[in-house]
Amino acid sequence: MRRVLALAAAAVTIAVTAACGGSGSAAKPAVADPWSAGRSTPVADDVYPRYGDPATDVEHYGLDLKWDPTTTVLTGTATLAVRAARPTDRFVLDLAADMSADTVSVNGAPVADVHDGDHLTVPVGKPLPADATATVVIGYHGVPHLVPAPMTRSDIAGLGAQVTAGGGVWAQQEPYGAFTWYPCNDQPSDKALYDVSITAPDGWAGVSGGSFVGRTESGGSAGSGGSGASGGFGVYRWHQPNPVATYLVAFAVDRFAEDTATGPHGIPLTYWYLPADADAVHRLTARIPDMITFLEQRFGPYPFPTGGVLFRPEQVGMETQTMITLSAHSPAADLLHEFAHQWFGDAVTPRTWSGLWLNEGFAAYAQYLWQAAYPAGGNPPTTIDAVLRDRAVSQDQELRSVDGPPGHYKPGAFASSNVYDCPALMLNGLRHALGDAAFYRLLSDWVHQNQGTNQDRNTFEAFVDAHTGRDFTPYINAWLDSPTTPTIPPPS
Ligand SMILES: [Zn+2]
Repeated sequence: MRRVLALAAAAVTIAVTAACGGSGSAAKPAVADPWSAGRSTPVADDVYPRYGDPATDVEHYGLDLKWDPTTTVLTGTATLAVRAARPTDRFVLDLAADMSADTVSVNGAPVADVHDGDHLTVPVGKPLPADATATVVIGYHGVPHLVPAPMTRSDIAGLGAQVTAGGGVWAQQEPYGAFTWYPCNDQPSDKALYDVSITAPDGWAGVSGGSFVGRTESGGSAGSGGSGASGGFGVYRWHQPNPVATYLVAFAVDRFAEDTATGPHGIPLTYWYLPADADAVHRLTARIPDMITFLEQRFGPYPFPTGGVLFRPEQVGMETQTMITLSAHSPAADLLHEFAHQWFGDAVTPRTWSGLWLNEGFAAYAQYLWQAAYPAGGNPPTTIDAVLRDRAVSQDQELRSVDGPPGHYKPGAFASSNVYDCPALMLNGLRHALGDAAFYRLLSDWVHQNQGTNQDRNTFEAFVDAHTGRDFTPYINAWLDSPTTPTIPPPS
């Protein structure tokens, strides 16, 4: 997520850009599991335990969605390949009360679900041992609405899918809120694979993450791109071959135009935007290949087979996996920030929301590196030390006082500046202790050796200590836990 603006409780105003957001292995099942790449080890979240069920491991979501811009009703069929992460006789999913669960079945047999508030309990009808799998199919419909965000930031009105004045819909859902548009296990520790199809009237386009498989006419014949409003429908199909956390699944239906481009070493890129935003969008997209190269030079190869940006006229900056959701009028540094999250947050995801610093500290650091190399306003390049001195050093204490230390932020202050700037300062100390080459090799190895997994503070500290042969754990803990700006030096 990009950084924000004001500290609600303090007189100071701090420039912030917004925000963005683990898993072990499980025993092998007796029969081949076609979705085994989507396996996770879900846990109860330690900051927002209301959402997500640790007994439920969704391995694959097949979402067949239809959007009606006139009624703003979303109609969906969600086919979930679910593994029992522990012995259970039910799966507890998250689905907004605004969405009506019309039909629910398990392995083809209708079941009597219980939809209570934002939770949908699906009885299996018998005890399931750990690792047993089942197919849950849920037919649902409703008008999406935002749910309140646990934040003090002024730039995020709510979480989930929101309907626009023009009859479109788009979603922003960190740390939760995917449940406003599909039934899911809405927590970061349950990554899954996705296939999403979105049916929309001619002239409208449905966008999600992964590779764009193509558009077909609803009747079945192939087509390309949206045609004029002729009363027909198009189906947009998206395939995610890498595991994704629910908060990172992009979703929008609007009157989008599409550009295709090619990034470094042939990465296919697609950009979706409203035609009125074309000029601003093209100024940003012209810089994307250089941004990816900038990040690859430091953190290793771009971690996914495709990339893209879904541009919105509203204020948003969200690192939705392989399809960033971004305001068309963002500064370039915000776009760089969201691309950095493809490494830090998307490829490697926090196990729980207390690990938000693993996302934002690293993306903020990458953003400051970019801003040092390419300052705004035509200023000459400077150093990351100078950028941090101007923007973070003098504010570290204030950020800890207002919103808590970054490893224990206040739950009502999700994605405040403390989880961006305080860990960015910790990383800069790490860089000084190791030197540039060893520091960037450490971060690249962290991503590429853990790609597709969930991780946490303990595994990060163990990785750093093993990689460097030094005990950095007290230093990292101090930066994550201290209510005052740490003075502990990194080990020499
Ligand atoms: Zn971010």
